[in-house]
Amino acid sequence: MIKKQIYIYDSTLRDGAQTKGVDFSVSDKIAIAKMLDDLGIDYIEGGWPGANNTDTEFFKNSPRLKNSKLVSFGMTYKNSSVLKKNFNEIKKRFKSRNLCIVGKTWDFQVNKALNITEKENLNIIKKNIQVAKNYFDEVLFDAEHFFDGFKSKKQYALECIKCANASGARWVVLCDTNGGTLPYEIEEIVKETSLYIPTNNLGIHCHNDTDNAVANTIAAVRSGVRQVQGTFNGLGERCGNTNLTSIIPTLILKMHLKTSISKKKLRDLTKVSKFINERLLRQNNPSMPYVGESAFAHKGGLHASGVKKHSKTYEHIEPEIVGNKRSIIISDQSGKSSLSIKLKELGFNVNKNKLDYLIMKLKKKEFEGYSYDGAEASFELFVMNELAKIPEYFKLKSFQVINEFKDIKDNIKINNTAKANIVVKVKKEYISNSIGNGPVNALDNALRSVLIKSYPILKKMNLVDYKVRILTPDEGTKAITRVIIESTDENKNNWSTVGVSSNVINASYIALKDSIIYKLIKAKTKSALR
Ligand SMILES: [Zn+2]
Repeated sequence: MIKKQIYIYDSTLRDGAQTKGVDFSVSDKIAIAKMLDDLGIDYIEGGWPGANNTDTEFFKNSPRLKNSKLVSFGMTYKNSSVLKKNFNEIKKRFKSRNLCIVGKTWDFQVNKALNITEKENLNIIKKNIQVAKNYFDEVLFDAEHFFDGFKSKKQYALECIKCANASGARWVVLCDTNGGTLPYEIEEIVKETSLYIPTNNLGIHCHNDTDNAVANTIAAVRSGVRQVQGTFNGLGERCGNTNLTSIIPTLILKMHLKTSISKKKLRDLTKVSKFINERLLRQNNPSMPYVGESAFAHKGGLHASGVKKHSKTYEHIEPEIVGNKRSIIISDQSGKSSLSIKLKELGFNVNKNKLDYLIMKLKKKEFEGYSYDGAEASFELFVMNELAKIPEYFKLKSFQVINEFKDIKDNIKINNTAKANIVVKVKKEYISNSIGNGPVNALDNALRSVLIKSYPILKKMNLVDYKVRILTPDEGTKAITRVIIESTDENKNNWSTVGVSSNVINASYIALKDSIIYKLIKAKTKSALR
């Protein structure tokens, strides 16, 4: 039997724009549309041209797509001449060839929100789709609140979508607009709906308000729908939409269904997910299935040793299939196997005694408050320090940091400038004074102004993130703090280092020092210390 294809409809640029804190620029939309097209998504809903400037500009400058059909979104109009004028504008001015019209199917919405009769609503659906057919290659009908409508007045909800189908809509998309429907309800309702509308014309659009958007989509596919809508990284208003980064690999790898996304392209999934986050200045969610950084991370010793023998033991798929990778996390919960895997990755082969010794040392460090979970570079330095020899690049003699806060006649003037002076030996002893935007920045500037003379490569290194965590909160301001610094260089390599102390500036210095030494080692720099 030939497997029927499931069509993927991306709404990241339209429903995804409703996400709190997300604000697409025109160039974001263009870049993301190109990325989705390259992946092989069937439909890209670009937005609502004419409704806001970004969407209008995007459609006017829409990129040429190789694989995807670009769809514009719009609502139904009551007045025939208005809808003709609007459709004409969408087609001519915004050069859109496909249109998705959203309409009501829930009697409650028809009576209360539109304030029209149910018959009038049916006529609006019919008229809009019939007219749109004259302007566009493909017309889709988004049946808003379909599942609520079905539960409230089944015959009427069905009548609305039968009307859309009969009027020529290529797709009737069943929307769980409020996101409150559960998978078993979706499965039953879609099955019953498919008695009236061919499944070849049915799509599903779910929201994640009960954390079931993906499950609901799977249920609808099992009942026959052929088009699946969603957004990348589950963007969308409230709790988001069906997450395409989860549903796409699930359809392909678990349900063995055909989509336009080839197995080869599926390897780009993690990259696309990260790219979209990057464009929108959003953090990657490490726990995201398939594409998250922790999706194939193993921390417990038993898991790590199992994965080492056979990846199937604790991984449901090979991470590379979706472009992700396995990682072994080093912590006091991880046993010898995780550590020996990690050491091999770093190029060390150690015997059992050495391994026991390292675990003992590691536990001691963790007891002091070190955690190498998010500071791989410091872990590497720790191992090198124990098993090899790290060149000594400089000797810090002392540093002082002065921070200033002035209160002039209750007119508080906050001065962010801090001063640092440092005594450090490289070829000879240097004294350096620097100012900075805060004490850590001043210290960083002072240290680097000396080191750059002997190690010019450090000019190309920058700090990109600085995080402080309180480890013993009940001790208030006396608490132990852990500082994590993330750095980057000219090759866009990123690395993280950690420092721990009861003094936040000293903890920062430890992390900063590790970061600099790591860069020098990786660049195979010779020590200039005499
Ligand atoms: Zn929606």
